[in-house]
Formats: sequence, structure tokens, C-alpha cells
Amino acid sequence: KTTGRGRYSFFSEAMDETLGLRRKTEMDLRQALLGENQLSVYFQPIQSARTRQIVGCEALLRWHHPEIGWISPELFIPIAEEAGLIDDIGQFALHKACAAAAKWHGLSVAVNVSGVELANPAYAGKVEKVLVATGLAPSRLELEITESVATDEDSAAVDNLIALRDLGVRIAIDDFGTGFSSLGRLQSLNIDRIKIDRSFVQGLEGKADDEAIIRAIVDIAHAKGLRTTAEGVETSQQGDTLTRMGCDDLQGFLYAQPMPLRDINRKLGIAHDT
Ligand code: C2E
Ligand code: CA
Ligand code: CA
Ligand code: CA
Repeated sequence: KTTGRGRYSFFSEAMDETLGLRRKTEMDLRQALLGENQLSVYFQPIQSARTRQIVGCEALLRWHHPEIGWISPELFIPIAEEAGLIDDIGQFALHKACAAAAKWHGLSVAVNVSGVELANPAYAGKVEKVLVATGLAPSRLELEITESVATDEDSAAVDNLIALRDLGVRIAIDDFGTGFSSLGRLQSLNIDRIKIDRSFVQGLEGKADDEAIIRAIVDIAHAKGLRTTAEGVETSQQGDTLTRMGCDDLQGFLYAQPMPLRDINRKLGIAHDT
């Protein structure tokens, strides 16, 4: 084997393999979108820290691939964004979530929105259509965007956020604390809620820093009239500490895993129709 050529072809083969896998995933995702019941939406309850009552649920996409099995959204969402499939996938999740929440006597539903979706000038209009079609009151829909999306100065994204606010839809900042935005900068966007990233929650046992960070986030959020949700609560000690700190709502495996529509409806005492 000649070293130079050999190494080159090794790398290019490895690259072809990665690209091939990506392309296959992309093709499979396209297929999944066309029906076949591979894509579904799961719901994870969110509860009030004070009353311990369920106040809403977060909608989370699930993909069950016919050969591979479950594929994480952390893996397929970025592929969907690059392949131009995220608008359709996002609409699918939004529609399922709003249709479900319309039957939940007053509870809200949180839906994750990709920065790519928000940069589409048609986005807010599409959300309005889904609300009308499902009969869900706009104030019961909360859209979760990440810090980087929220502070992006892209004019289509800013226009969408203004239009969504005008509709009465709520906006939450997801994974707060992992980016570099300040609460002050986010304030001009008129957001409703901050979701404290689970990395801080999980540092609560032992790490004094994380406790101080969460305390600061909650206090500043309240001073600015925003509500707070802690995500990734796994132990009762974490739940108790967060409640003591004044965090409004709690979400995590301690209380419930994300579950299919049938199960969440049963938990909420809602008759399931098919
Ligand atoms: P995320 O928005 O931060 O969602 C929370 C993630 O934390 C979910 O992972 C959830 O299952 C997980 N989780 C909840 N409680 C706990 C806990 O106590 N401990 C731990 N370790 N994890 C917990 P999931 O469902 O795998 O989703 C991963 C990410 O994929 C989401 O993170 C979100 O960024 C993205 N995603 C999911 N569904 C959608 C969607 O419909 N649209 C978009 N654009 N992104 C989505
Ligand atoms: Ca989220
Ligand atoms: Ca999150
Ligand atoms: Ca996350």
C-alpha cells in the first residue's frame, strides 16, 4: 500500500460512508413523513411547583424507524433542518400538539420550534391556521425557542415573533443558561417564560455554583415578570430545592417520562377517541 494514496482513499471512503448514512437517513425521514405512522408526538407533563398539579405538557417528536428502531430527535432534527424537511415535520408536531391540547380542559402545550422554521416568513401564519383548525385558544400554546434563535436579528424571525405575540401565543426560551444572551436582551422580545436548562438542575446536588445560577435566573426572571420552568428534574431533592427557590413549574423524569397521546390522556382523565 502506498501511504499517501491509501490514506486518502481511506478518508474518502469514511466520508462517503458518513454522507451515505446521512443521505439514507434523509430519504428515510422523507418516507416517514409520507405516512406509515413512523413519526409521532409524545407528551411530558409539567407541574406547578407549589400545587404539584399538572399545568401543561411539552410535545416531543418521536421517530420509530422500521429497521433501526427509535431515533433521537437530537439526531434527526438537525438532518431535517439541513434537508429542508423541518417545516413539514414542525407542522406535523404542532398540529398533533394543538389537536391534543384542545381537549385538555385549560392545560397548555409547549411545542419546540426550530430556528429554521422561525426564519420562514410564512411561519406565524401557519401557526394561526393550525390554531383555527384545532380550535385551541392561542394563549394555551407556548412555543419554545432557544436563546440563539431569540437573539438572532434575522428580520423574518423577529417579524414572526411579533406576529405570534399579537395572536396571543406564548413564547418560552428553552435551555436557558447554555447560550450567551442576557435576560435584559431577551426582555425586548416580550417573552413569557424561561426554561432553566437541565445541566444546572442536575448540578444542584453538590455544586454551589449551579444553585447560585438558578437562584439568580429565577429572581431576575420574576423581577421582569417572567415565569420559570426547571427541566430535567430527576430527584425529589432537586424538586424540593427548586420549589424553595421559587421556581414556578417543574418537569422531569421524577414526575413523568414523555408518553404517547393515549397515555397522557388517560393520566389527565380524558376519553381517548381514535
Ligand atoms: P428539549 O426541548 O430540551 O427537550 C427536553 C428533553 O429532555 C427531551 O428529550 C426529554 O425527553 C428530556 N428529558 C425530560 N425530562 C428529563 C429528565 O428528567 N432527565 C433527562 N436526562 N432528560 C429529560 P428528547 O425528547 O430526546 O428531545 C431532545 C431534543 O430534541 C429536545 O430538547 C428538542 O431540542 C428537540 N426536539 C424534540 N421534539 C422537537 C420538535 O417537535 N421540534 C423541534 N424543532 N425540536 C424538537
Ligand atoms: Ca423544549
Ligand atoms: Ca430544554
Ligand atoms: Ca435541549
